[in-house]
Amino acid sequence: MDRVREIKLQFTRRIPLMDKVCPVCGATFAGPSQRKYCSDRCVNRRDWAEHGADRNARRRAKREQAR
Ligand SMILES: [Zn+2]
Repeated sequence: MDRVREIKLQFTRRIPLMDKVCPVCGATFAGPSQRKYCSDRCVNRRDWAEHGADRNARRRAKREQAR
């Protein structure tokens, strides 16, 4: 027989929120310090702005090759 004792643990993590300004849409929002954008939408938009054209070109080149 196992001699065990079950102990329930409960954690509450308190993350300080900072007043931040989203560099994409300019909205002010409260978020943890490592967060940069107000929403996933803005993360995607930024990602697209940075790599979108690049990615499209590479994809197009691949398609041309296949032909
Ligand atoms: Zn935003």
